[in-house]
Amino acid sequence: MTVSRSTSAVPLLFALAVLAAASVAAQSNPPGPPPPGAPDAPRSARNASYTIQARLDPAARTITGHEVATWRNIQAAPTDELWFHLYWNAFRNTHSTWLRERRLARGLPDDLREEDWGWIQLDSVRLLGAGDAPGPDPGPDLTKAARFAAPDDGNPDDRTVMVVPLPEAVPPGGTVRVEVTWHAKVPRTFARTGYRGDFYLIAQWFPKLGVFQGERGWNCHQFHANTEFFSDYGVYDVSLTLPERFVVGATGLETETKSAGDGAVTHRFVQADVHDFTWTTSPDLRVATDRFAAPGLPPVDLRLLYQPEHEGQVARHFAATKACLRDYGTWYGPYPYPHLTVVDPAWESGAGGMEYPTLFTAGTRLFNPPAGGSPEGVTIHECGHQFWYALVGDNEFENAWIDEGLNTFSTARVYRKEYGREALEERYLRPPGTSWRGFLPVIFPGIRYSRAVQGDRLNRYRRDATSDVPATPTYLYYPKTHASITYAKTALWLHTLERHLGWGTLREILSSFFHRYELAHPTPEGFIEIADRVARERRGEDLDWFFDQVYRDDVTFDYAIDRAASFRAAPEGMVEEQGKLVYQKGGEDDDGEEAPTYRSEVVARRLGQGVFPVDLLLVFEDGSEIREHWDGRARWKLFVHEGPSKLHHAVVDPDRVLLLDLDRTNNSRLVHPAGHLAATKWASKWMIWAQDLLQTFAFFS
Ligand SMILES: [Zn+2]
Repeated sequence: MTVSRSTSAVPLLFALAVLAAASVAAQSNPPGPPPPGAPDAPRSARNASYTIQARLDPAARTITGHEVATWRNIQAAPTDELWFHLYWNAFRNTHSTWLRERRLARGLPDDLREEDWGWIQLDSVRLLGAGDAPGPDPGPDLTKAARFAAPDDGNPDDRTVMVVPLPEAVPPGGTVRVEVTWHAKVPRTFARTGYRGDFYLIAQWFPKLGVFQGERGWNCHQFHANTEFFSDYGVYDVSLTLPERFVVGATGLETETKSAGDGAVTHRFVQADVHDFTWTTSPDLRVATDRFAAPGLPPVDLRLLYQPEHEGQVARHFAATKACLRDYGTWYGPYPYPHLTVVDPAWESGAGGMEYPTLFTAGTRLFNPPAGGSPEGVTIHECGHQFWYALVGDNEFENAWIDEGLNTFSTARVYRKEYGREALEERYLRPPGTSWRGFLPVIFPGIRYSRAVQGDRLNRYRRDATSDVPATPTYLYYPKTHASITYAKTALWLHTLERHLGWGTLREILSSFFHRYELAHPTPEGFIEIADRVARERRGEDLDWFFDQVYRDDVTFDYAIDRAASFRAAPEGMVEEQGKLVYQKGGEDDDGEEAPTYRSEVVARRLGQGVFPVDLLLVFEDGSEIREHWDGRARWKLFVHEGPSKLHHAVVDPDRVLLLDLDRTNNSRLVHPAGHLAATKWASKWMIWAQDLLQTFAFFS
């Protein structure tokens, strides 16, 4: 970090003009030197870059901003428009698409005040030049021609997307630069971004380009309540002016700090090869630093901005972040940036648990016993998004399962490996009128962490298994149950694949996918193609039958044992013997030997639509076992075995490979049901299930 404090009181506008002119000049001579902090060789397409100056006025809760967006057309078709996201207008009026969907999902906060709303207002849009070597002269003013668009639902009250027509089309390979000025009212945190008291998390805050997809046009969705973001990679050079007493954390590295006069300081952050820029500030934040180092992985400087009352949890934040960087880095591919900022947001700020490039928010509370899994779970998860979201930049509006599902699966795997011990924490003494879970934590030591239940959120999936077909664009999912499909179902089918193919094969699928789409935009078809190829190479198996069911359809799975019986192979009754019909007395075997032979019959049924190959385990009274394999296709199948011992019980899918099975209680059956024991067993199972369910709701909420 370069710190150069100047005492001259340069008026802000003049300073902005100088900075803007400097950036224009720098960009008018391509290729030019890379900006400070940018690696020499571009690792991404860098076709959407921003130079931004912004000033926060905490008293008025406003931001004034100036940006130069440089956009290069990397598609084969021309475009004569630029599409921008104006995310904060989601909180502008009561009829925005975001607020409509939020009402459907879980309602609005009931204590909303007038000052809690937020918006972003464009003041001017001007073309700075086009072509390969755009000139520095201000070009035509495009402000008047700009219009709002609502490509997803036609909602005339939604102002989260703005279309700017250009006087000339940008050809393939061409570059255009626009200067945008705006002012914005910071919202109270509706969805992570905003303020709470003196704490600010400023995310999705500047006019930001959508993604041009050639013949398909601009992919620039409105802001939806349950889906997030999609943008191209570029270089961000952002100067933030704030009161001196405010501590700042942001995407990228701080390259310069200087006085802006009037007790304000300008912090300049630069980051290349990212697709977003977010910052946080508060006078109360404390700073701790650490360094991640692991064999075979590049080192990462860690910076934690934490609340003073969480001093005792600093080491836990770092440990969880390192566990994630180490495990994801080893399994999928290394985290390539040399720094990472972890933010412990203000209590009740609603800003916790969110990912941005090279920065994420975790979230904790005052009394947190280590076994409770917080802040470790959320820290691993949000750090994990550095891989699935920041590095593999999927379209979260349309395919949120790629980042949230892969990341939920991976989070649970890391948590189980690094921490998984006791899992159930209950909290008591909740003050009335608050949404949080109570002061007093109690750990129930007997209940172990289950990757499937706590990690993959099995009970959420079971509740909402058919609520949407996963291949549906995510922003069209039913808002109330979207997470059950995006997070839980994806994690469970990945976990099922892990058990079906083996971790080695699944890991290769995920790391091949990671490397193929690192710093680029993946597609679901790309994932399936890689999964098919790796599974074919390593296991000789195509996976289309699996994706047809779990991704392209909403079928559910339920295998059951319907009958488990065992009896003398020669029971009492009429039998054919040497051409005559004779009555055979009970207990006599055909061969007359003393040791009886038992015939065991097991009927397995497929009660769901879904088909999955399953094993059957037959366990006999003498302790012997027989394993059968069933392709799982027919609606039912009879398995018969004759031998010296009576059957004791039968289980379908005894290794629990198929985690998507909606009802595990019917997967096994005793030949002689132990009535009262069974009642006790299922009652206690049910209680644990109910507790798990409640716990699962709260785990990442
Ligand atoms: Zn997530």
